[in-house]
Amino acid sequence: MDTAPHASLRFLGATGTVTGSRYLVETGGRRILVDCGLFQGYKQLRLRNWNPFPVPPKTITDVLLTHAHLDHSGYLPALVRNGFRGKIHATPATIELCGLLLPDSGHLQEEEARYAKRKGYSRHRNPLPLYTLEDARRSLDYFHEVPFDQALHLGDDISARFLPAGHLLGAASIRLTVHGRTIQFSGDVGRRKDPLMRGPAPFDGADILVTESTYGNRLHPDVDPAAELAEVINRVARRGGVIVIPAFAVGRIQGLMLQIARLRNSGAIPYVPVLLNTPMGTDATEIYHRHHDEHHVSLEDCKAMFDLAERVRTVEESKAVNRRNGPFIVISASGMLTGGRVLHHVASFGPDPRNAIVLSGFQAGGTRGAALLRGETSLRIFGREVPIRAEVIQIESLSGHADADELLDWMRTGRPPETTYVTHGEPEAADALRFRIEHELGWKARVPEHLERINIRRPR
Ligand SMILES: [Zn+2]
Repeated sequence: MDTAPHASLRFLGATGTVTGSRYLVETGGRRILVDCGLFQGYKQLRLRNWNPFPVPPKTITDVLLTHAHLDHSGYLPALVRNGFRGKIHATPATIELCGLLLPDSGHLQEEEARYAKRKGYSRHRNPLPLYTLEDARRSLDYFHEVPFDQALHLGDDISARFLPAGHLLGAASIRLTVHGRTIQFSGDVGRRKDPLMRGPAPFDGADILVTESTYGNRLHPDVDPAAELAEVINRVARRGGVIVIPAFAVGRIQGLMLQIARLRNSGAIPYVPVLLNTPMGTDATEIYHRHHDEHHVSLEDCKAMFDLAERVRTVEESKAVNRRNGPFIVISASGMLTGGRVLHHVASFGPDPRNAIVLSGFQAGGTRGAALLRGETSLRIFGREVPIRAEVIQIESLSGHADADELLDWMRTGRPPETTYVTHGEPEAADALRFRIEHELGWKARVPEHLERINIRRPR
């Protein structure tokens, strides 16, 4: 009789979408969840956030968190509220960033539920938030620090190691070893050359690789993001317009501010006020100061980027921005226009053709950001149609994600896995990367189905 410990891997999210990263590894008495993200974008995906979790949260023993972005961490408050009592393991910077992101997410969900109730545009008479600010705060008690590159023991013959992934402060690829078998979760892989972050640690090989594929069918244009940004700022400033930059509060905002500070100091752009409308973006910048070893921005540049912006803190200040005359730049979350204060700015400035909306990160299918890129001329915001006549620009070179070539280069250095599972991409992107892995690396690769379970054989 075979009494060897059995393990399995199950894809609870991020299949056919870039959002909802959740992978479950089950072995013996342990249930280990890698990432616990929110589904975003298309309605049928967002509705999954409201489904009961596929296994009872109280039976999950550990969560291993690759990084703080909400599509990886944003379901944690709901997991805890619904009974999870284990440990959430993450790097110190990820914990600090989650300390900002999760309460902010809870606050936003409460605000949106209240707003929908007041304006009566929800189908529910009493719309409820997915979780509250208080739920989010409570979830922070379950976090435990794991330094990079150290073995984390999770029980008999089970251990994990967090390796730097670039992409965002604290972001990791996670190598999980279960009864002699290694599964590596790429997390979000950063760019080899990023103005802010160090490049990802090389892939060493694993028995199973679960890789992201956000840009699996795309290459970033080989242009200097600073030059692209300077061109846009100069053009819009000349016509007295307002530049609205929707950006994820952490990561993208710091990269943008750094670029703008350098452009301003070198005289490549005129003096244009920069407003940073997210209290969280401000605090996250301070966290970048504290974790100097993870990025390669000098203290001086850090300070310049920190001093660059006027802070918009209160709701009243935020409303005042919408009455202000251009030219100026306003940076505000969320990056895909799925929520946040930036929606009010797009509603105010979107209808005027002198203005510009600059998209700087990946726009998941089903989001307002993706609709703008498709050329939609109106957006539904807070229950009404807002005409968009502002110029819409995407600066892809500002992306925090490796493109398809960079992903393949990252994999190429490692021993070939038995199977590589391609996740965290829209269907075309995931399939394109799968094809290139099979044909260019000669590895076996598959795009898993939602909720599919893979048995992990023990070593022979
Ligand atoms: Zn990310």
